[in-house]
Amino acid sequence: MNKIPMVDLNSQYARLKNEIDTAIQDVLDSSQFIGGDVVRQFEISLADYLGSKHVISCANGTDAIQIALMSLDLTRGDEVIIPSFNYISTAEVVALLGLTPVMIDVDEKHYNCTAKAIEEAITTKTKAIVPVHLFGQSSPMEEIMFIAKKHQLHVIEDNAQSIGANYHFENETTKKTGTIGHIGCTSFFPTKNLGCFGDGGAIMTDDEQLANKMRMIAKHGQKKKYHHDLVGCNSRLDAIQAAVLNVKLRHLESFIQKRQEAALRYDELLSDITSVNVPQGVSWSDHVYHQYTLHILNGHRDELQNHLASVGIASAVYYPLPLYKQPVFSDYQTVEHEHAEVLCKRVLSLPMHTEMTMDIQERIVGEIIAFFS
Ligand SMILES: *Cc1c(COP(=O)(O)O)cnc(C)c1O
Repeated sequence: MNKIPMVDLNSQYARLKNEIDTAIQDVLDSSQFIGGDVVRQFEISLADYLGSKHVISCANGTDAIQIALMSLDLTRGDEVIIPSFNYISTAEVVALLGLTPVMIDVDEKHYNCTAKAIEEAITTKTKAIVPVHLFGQSSPMEEIMFIAKKHQLHVIEDNAQSIGANYHFENETTKKTGTIGHIGCTSFFPTKNLGCFGDGGAIMTDDEQLANKMRMIAKHGQKKKYHHDLVGCNSRLDAIQAAVLNVKLRHLESFIQKRQEAALRYDELLSDITSVNVPQGVSWSDHVYHQYTLHILNGHRDELQNHLASVGIASAVYYPLPLYKQPVFSDYQTVEHEHAEVLCKRVLSLPMHTEMTMDIQERIVGEIIAFFS
């Protein structure tokens, strides 16, 4: 039997090969590998697609969050609120900058942080909140922005997993995730919903002053070449990656649609299995299914994963530990987070990508049904 991988970048490339190869060849012919028109064009197209005034490209999604935090004039010991059921990036850059990560629990159903948990964690030292839009749907940004305004806090959205998702406001207007907070960050790691052929990232903001400052920070703190005003870093998206992204951005809406169709098929195929909860939607956000993440109720998550592996089907645990249990944060003191603890033991993400077919999904779900019967 053929193995079923988590993602299928080969088939997607095969489908877009002509367009992508031409775009890369153009960069090779121009020999403009860093900066230049292709990179600028991508920033403009992404800003246009997202409805954001400014897009600053950078080297990866982790740098994007770091540069965003560096632009805010925070000082050592200032607190930044982040969810504990999460990838490492947010906690890592907060710690790296000498700031204090304050971890909060997430909602057990939608896996994202809640406004209530944020408000409970606010102290006189709190300066910023980094909501992470996990697996493809947004945190409750309208409530989060309300609290942030009340307490005068900066909000940086980690949108690495949810690019293209629409956020639905109470007044029935919509905005793309990553453009609601003061700053939004994203990653173009190859397996992300908008992925390049290496590393890449971007920062979004409507604030021109912040945009100028972040652009400087990403470029060694310089406004003018060889004149350095700030301590910055060196973080750039290269032209080959931008060329790939220019092509893929044109297809992002269809990529999202394919993921949503695959998710619907999974939902239907899995509907009779009582030990499995399929991903729960929320009223305020579309789901763009970066991951299709199950909640396994009967305590046999690891055995199910082993069974799937034994028949050649990949699956993944995002994430096995709450951030406060990672060895790097062993000094971090917190009471255990009830939901994060449960989710780390019970979540299982199934293969999800733009090339998914009914055949593949029937085989995967067939094995899940076989395991539970
Ligand atoms: C992928 C990811 C990042 C980091 O992106 P890189 O480009 O790998 O640095 C940050 N946050 C979340 C939630 C991610 O999924």
